[in-house]
Amino acid sequence: MPWPPSARRPDHRAGDTAGADAARTPDTPDADDTVDTDVAVVGAGPAGLALSLMLLRSGVRVALVEKSSGDPASAGRDFHGEVLQPGGQRVLDRLGVLSPARARGARRLTGFRLLDRGRVLLDVDYGRLPGPYDHLLALPQRHLLAELLAACRSLPGFRHLPGHRVSALTGGHGRCTGVVATGPGGRRVTVRARVVAGADGRYSKTRALAGIGAGRTEAFDQDVVWFSLPAPGRATGTVAVHRAPGSAVLVHDTHPDRLRVGWTLPHRGWPAVAARGVEAVRAELTAALPQFADLIRDHVRALDDLRLLDVFAAHADTWVRDGLVLLGDAAHTHGPLGAQGVNLALQDAAALHPVLVDALRADDCSRGRLAAFPRLRGPAAEAVTRMQKVQAKALLGAGGPAADVLRSHAARLVGRTPLGTRITRRIAYGRTPPEVRTDLFTVRTPAPRRA
Ligand SMILES: Cc1cc2nc3c(=O)[nH]c(=O)nc-3n(C[C@H](O)[C@H](O)[C@H](O)COP(=O)(O)OP(=O)(O)OC[C@H]3O[C@@H](n4cnc5c(N)ncnc54)[C@H](O)[C@@H]3O)c2cc1C
Repeated sequence: MPWPPSARRPDHRAGDTAGADAARTPDTPDADDTVDTDVAVVGAGPAGLALSLMLLRSGVRVALVEKSSGDPASAGRDFHGEVLQPGGQRVLDRLGVLSPARARGARRLTGFRLLDRGRVLLDVDYGRLPGPYDHLLALPQRHLLAELLAACRSLPGFRHLPGHRVSALTGGHGRCTGVVATGPGGRRVTVRARVVAGADGRYSKTRALAGIGAGRTEAFDQDVVWFSLPAPGRATGTVAVHRAPGSAVLVHDTHPDRLRVGWTLPHRGWPAVAARGVEAVRAELTAALPQFADLIRDHVRALDDLRLLDVFAAHADTWVRDGLVLLGDAAHTHGPLGAQGVNLALQDAAALHPVLVDALRADDCSRGRLAAFPRLRGPAAEAVTRMQKVQAKALLGAGGPAADVLRSHAARLVGRTPLGTRITRRIAYGRTPPEVRTDLFTVRTPAPRRA
C-alpha cells in the first residue's frame, strides 16, 4: 500500500460534476490552473487550519483554499469567536501554537458570571479544573489563525490559495474529486484532491454545492449585537452576563485593553431597535451597564459601530459524501453562549485527522469510511445545542418566579457541588474530547517560532 498518500493519484475526469448536485456545478471547469493534492481544505478558519496542520505533519499534502486575501493577522476577524475553552486550548497546545498565539496578546479569564444589578447569581469558576487549562482565554482569532498558518507554511506539501473563493465541486458518479476556486482577477483554479474537507463556516458554500441541507433551526429566542470598547485599566477578569430588563449583556476583557460586549436582543428584533436610533441604543446599553456608561457614551457613536450576529443552531443533513467531509461550523453551528464554536471546530479537526489519514492510507475516501467522523462528533455537537438551549432559557430568559427558582437552583448546583465541577468540565471540554493523534505525525516539527 503506497505511503505517503501522495504516491497515489486520484482518478480525475475533468468535466464531471459532483454527485448529488450535478446541476449546480459547471460541466467543464474552464480552469486556468490546476493544483494536485491529497486533501483540499476549504476555509482557513480554526477548523480548516488546524486540520491542515495535523495532516501536513502526517505527511499528507494539503491545498488550503480561502476566500479572504492577505494575512489572517490583519484580515478583520475581530468579530469572530474569541473566548477559547480549555478543550480548544489543549488542542492548540498539542500543536505547539498556543504559547506563540498567546504571546501575540490574549487575556486570561477566570470563568463565567451571571449578574443581576451587580449581584452575582451564578459563578462558574474554572479554577476548579486541573491546570494548566484552568481558565478561559480571550484570544483574538487573528492571533490563533496567524500562528496556525505560519506552522502550516513551514511544512512540506502545503499549497495556500488565499483570495480564492470556491465556486464549484468537481467529480462524478456521486464522488467528489476536488473544487474549482476563483481567485484574484477572475483566475480560476481547479484543485484536484482525493478528498475535500469543507471547513467554510456557517454559510458553507461547499455544503450548498454538494446539495446538503444546512439543518438550520431557530433554536434561540435571542440574537446578539457585538461591539468592543477601549478600556485601559478596566479589566473585569471574567465573562460576565449582566441581566437587564428585556435583555442581557455579555462583557469580557479582550486584547489589547478592550472590553468586548454582546448585547442580546429578541431574535430578529434588531430592525426595530435600530429604528429607535443610536441615542436610544446608548441609553439602553447604559442602563444595562451603568459601570461602563462613560465608555459607551464616548465610543458607541453610530449604529455602524455595532455588528449583528444572526443566532441559530444548525446540524447539516449529512457530514460525509464519497470524497467529501464537512467539519466545524459548516457541519454544525451553535449560538455564542458558553463559547463553544472554536472549541468544537478545533476538536473536530483533531477527530477528523486520524479518520482522513486512515482513509488515505487505505485509498478509500468513501462515505462509509469517512462516516467514523460524524459518529464521533455528531453526538458532541448535538449535546452542545441541547446545553445552549437550556443555558439560553435559564440565563437570558425573562424573569418571573419560575425562572428565578430555576436560576437559583442552577446556581447552587454549579456553584458549590461536585456535580457543578462535572458540569464545568463538560462545558470546558465537551463530550468525549478527542486527543490530537501526535503518534501519526511523521514530519519533524520545525523549531518553535518566536512571536
Ligand atoms: C460574532 C461572533 C462571536 C463568536 N464568539 C465566539 C466565542 O467567544 N467563542 C467561540 O468558541 N466561538 C465563538 N463564535 C463562533 C466561532 O467563531 C465559530 O464557531 C468558529 O470560528 C468556527 O470555525 P470554522 O473554522 O468552522 O469556521 P469559520 O471560522 O467561519 O471559518 C470559515 C472560513 O471559510 C472561509 N470561506 C467561506 N466561504 C468560502 C468559500 N466559498 N471559499 C473559500 N473560503 C471560504 C471564510 O472566509 C473563513 O475564513 C462566534 C462567532 C461569531 C460570528
